[in-house]
Amino acid sequence: MSFFREQFTARSAAVRVRFGAGVRKNIAEELETLGAERALILTTPQQAELAEAFSEYCGDRAVGAYTNATMHTPVDVSEEAARRAEELGADVLVAVGGGSTIGLGKAIALRTGLPQIAVPTTYAGSEATPILGQTENGQKTTQTNPKVQPGTILYDAELVATLPVEMTVTSALNAMAHAAEGLYARDRSPISSLMAVEGLRAFRDSLPRVLASPEDVATRGETLYGAWLCGTVLGQVGMALHHKLCHTLGGSFNLPHAETHAIILPHALAYNAGAVPELLAPVAELFEDDNPGRGLYRFAKEIGAPLALSDLGVSEADLDKAADLAVANPYWNPRPVERDAIRTLLQAAWSGDMPAF
Ligand code: NAD
Repeated sequence: MSFFREQFTARSAAVRVRFGAGVRKNIAEELETLGAERALILTTPQQAELAEAFSEYCGDRAVGAYTNATMHTPVDVSEEAARRAEELGADVLVAVGGGSTIGLGKAIALRTGLPQIAVPTTYAGSEATPILGQTENGQKTTQTNPKVQPGTILYDAELVATLPVEMTVTSALNAMAHAAEGLYARDRSPISSLMAVEGLRAFRDSLPRVLASPEDVATRGETLYGAWLCGTVLGQVGMALHHKLCHTLGGSFNLPHAETHAIILPHALAYNAGAVPELLAPVAELFEDDNPGRGLYRFAKEIGAPLALSDLGVSEADLDKAADLAVANPYWNPRPVERDAIRTLLQAAWSGDMPAF
């Protein structure tokens, strides 16, 4: 297939990426390159031991750690962490973790202007985007601002090798969702589409092998390569129905981020497939089904992904409200977002059935 279009605008961020098993141990070189001497290390409480390890890798360029990164980037946590950065005189942030920790780094950078080194330990892809979601008083707001894009990313497969199998599957599908929706984004470019297809291919090929031997660092490296590509797509182009549904469901019913993505993706793709068959043809080809959503559903099932919103605690009675919310704020999607069709989509996603379209 050809990605060529008569007109396009391609955007890419100036980001330094270092990739390789064990590359995290070279972080002192990265600090030196940046001219940074006072690194504040960020993690979640669950990954606090990584803060200690990174403190050693940074040597005398580490000034402290803040290990309270929290899901959904609450504003009060970000403000406390920003104060900590100022008190310690930090001149760089080192965020080691998944989307929650990298989100905290971005939130501090927004407030302080500090440069960031992101070291992802999941496939979510936040490190490769200028997007920041924050919550305050139960409300999530998202902004896109070049100021929050980490300037350096270290992709080290040894760090994702510890991801539990269930999170491996859901986090991978979360990443794949960025690539899949990127293929029909209005602001896509030939480069973003090439990255999207290659990212999906990398996950398709490596995920079954990762599940067979989760600690195999070489295979984990292939998945992390996919995560880099998929995250970079998210950073370059706009998203549509799938992401909107995930945000609506996640926000309204307090659902876990990666699991929600994993469940919704096949249904959203099936919904859109008829409107953009050529753009989704690479997904149909990769997952060997004329309907890309159905192909992906089968793949998700084979790798043991969660399939049903009912398993996340959504009640069937909530589906009407979810459908109303999904159509409440009009947004661009290749196929018009129609309330009854969305309700049908949600019913299949709730039951864990094959996509309805
Ligand atoms: P997460 O960062 O919330 O991590 C979930 C849990 O897994 C945490 O307890 C964490 O400590 C633990 N964990 C992470 N890596 C681990 C590893 N290798 N081994 C063992 N445990 C590990 O999960 P996530 O799915 O990466 O991030 C979700 C958040 O990121 C959401 O808030 C989402 O909105 C945001 N996000 C933002 C963007 C963006 O571009 N702004 C992109 C994707 C996700």
